[in-house]
Parts: sequence; C-alpha cells; structure tokens
Amino acid sequence: MGMAPSLSRRAVLMAGVGLVVTACSKSKPSRSTAAGAPTSLPPTPSCDDHPTVAQTAGPYFKPNSPEKADLAAGVSGGTRLVVAGRVMSTSCQPVGRALLDVWQAGPDGQYDNTGNRLRGHMFADASGRYRFETVVPGLYPGRTRHIHVKVQAPDGPILTTQLYFPGEERNATDEIFDDKLLMAVTGASDGKNGTFDFVVRS
Ligand code: FE
Repeated sequence: MGMAPSLSRRAVLMAGVGLVVTACSKSKPSRSTAAGAPTSLPPTPSCDDHPTVAQTAGPYFKPNSPEKADLAAGVSGGTRLVVAGRVMSTSCQPVGRALLDVWQAGPDGQYDNTGNRLRGHMFADASGRYRFETVVPGLYPGRTRHIHVKVQAPDGPILTTQLYFPGEERNATDEIFDDKLLMAVTGASDGKNGTFDFVVRS
C-alpha cells in the first residue's frame, strides 16, 4: 500500500541522477543528425569534485593580457591549433563566463616578454564553453610542449595550470608534466584541434 509514494520518490531521485550525469558529461561539440538526434551517446562523465591539477605559472606570465581569442594573429609559421572545451565547477555545473588567460611560446620556442604575442584572455560562454585559436607551441630547453593557462570562475579562486600534448617525447622527462593535463589532440584540415575540460572551484 505504501509502495507507490516510495517508488515515485525513487523515480524522482533517479531522474535527478540522470540530470547530474547529463550536466557532467564531457563535452565535445555535439554532433547531430539533420533531425537533431545525437549520433552517439555522451562519453563517460569526467567531472568529479576534484578540480583540475594546478601547476606553476613559470617565469613568463604577464598580467593585463589583451582580450582576444585569436592568439595566433601576427604569428608567422607554426601549426595552427584550436583549443576548446568547457569549464565546469566541482559540483559538475558549467561555469558560464569563466575567465581564461593563456600564454605560450611561439613556434620558435620563445615567449614574447615585451608585447602580447601569444598572450590573451577570453571568457567562456553561458554554458562554460571556451575556444581559442593559436599555434602549436615550440619547445624550449628543459620543458616539454605546453600551454599555460589561468582559469577563474566569476568571483572564484584562480586555477593556474598547463596543458600538454600527447605523444611528445619530452613528456617522459619533463618533471612538471602531468598526464592528467593532456589535451585530446586530433588533426584538422588546417592544423590541429585540442580539447580539454577544466574543473574549477567556484
Ligand atoms: Fe612555459
């Protein structure tokens, strides 16, 4: 007799779990058929209560970068790279308008320490999605290939970290390298695409 309320509450709870799983789904750009139906199930959720691993900013960070999502403007040579993903909170919610501040070496392995070549900040959209265009950074002594980034939820603490490239020989010897910070990198018609989802405290 008392089963019906209990079952319905369980059904509601299960629906809630479904919502959380949906919110935590690692987002690659969703591909849809012409009818709008997804062509595949979302990948395994990647979000948990652990924020993205923090790393040193290193010696080349400069504050007050310009707002721009095309960091490659004015850079000659190198391989075009588009980096995209989402910023999520430790409670698996998208962090709309998260700030990302990016700096990296150029194809020559040099940082621009007087200007803003390959330095810029941008904001995620309302769904926490971010995207910036750049070039594959060159190598410099002592480090594997990497991109520096600071990520901050609105009014949240700053996460300073670095992104890495799979398949790099120096990943095995760089003492700062962490495989939890590897981007998924695929080839594109005009270069490469890298994806990474950040988890930040908000
Ligand atoms: Fe660096």
